[in-house]
Amino acid sequence: MEYFDSHCHLNDEAILSNIEEEYRLCLEAGVTHMLCVGYDVASSKVAVDLAERFPAVYAAVGVHPENLEPDMNKALQEIKELAKHPKVLAIGEIGLDYYWYKDPEIRNAQKPWFIAQIALAEELGLPISIHARDAVADTLEILKEHTPAHGGVLHCYSGSPESLKEFAKLGLYFGFDGPITFKNAVTPKECVRVCPLDRLLVETDSPYLAPTPFRGKQNSPKYIPFIVDEMAKIKEMEPAKLNEALWENFSRLFRVKHG
Ligand SMILES: [Zn+2]
Repeated sequence: MEYFDSHCHLNDEAILSNIEEEYRLCLEAGVTHMLCVGYDVASSKVAVDLAERFPAVYAAVGVHPENLEPDMNKALQEIKELAKHPKVLAIGEIGLDYYWYKDPEIRNAQKPWFIAQIALAEELGLPISIHARDAVADTLEILKEHTPAHGGVLHCYSGSPESLKEFAKLGLYFGFDGPITFKNAVTPKECVRVCPLDRLLVETDSPYLAPTPFRGKQNSPKYIPFIVDEMAKIKEMEPAKLNEALWENFSRLFRVKHG
């Protein structure tokens, strides 16, 4: 079976230091498309470099709310240049992070970055990859007002099943990761269950969030099959059938050809 990983960080030093071997293992596991996501200008550059070097790697470029750059105009110009590469499939990851940031001033400073990068994606004709941690209400409010013209995915979706339905009304997709395989993960499993089949995506967010039975270890796109299997159980579908639906979603949102 062939798989994709719609959100990974091969550009993270933990994986990058062993990239040749890791890439080989991912191909061996059947992962034919890995969307390597940037989180600031430097890591976005690395993502594009990796996409250039490895046929199965694609890139997303953007500035993550935890990594706001000193000069927004300069950073956005650089992101825009990087996004011209034909293997750049999305602007991301962008969004709001209130988990690490409690100070209202810092939280507010994230919003113009998010909105400006949604606009950039629209200008470039690309979808977006959204990071929203402990910030569901504000993320929803911004997305209602600035609905991404070319779609987007709430990567590592960690909201409630009720908010999922609200985001789904905006045409958005939902990425699920290793935590859905954890025994005690009641809410993530419930979110997968209620997620419309045509909006579901699978991702690792590696090197973080390794699925069971590798929980706590370094994650990699090679573990995608474990997440797909769990998703199939939750959706009460044959893994191959579910995987087919996932591929359709991936191809539709990121406009890649498969099979
Ligand atoms: Zn990420």
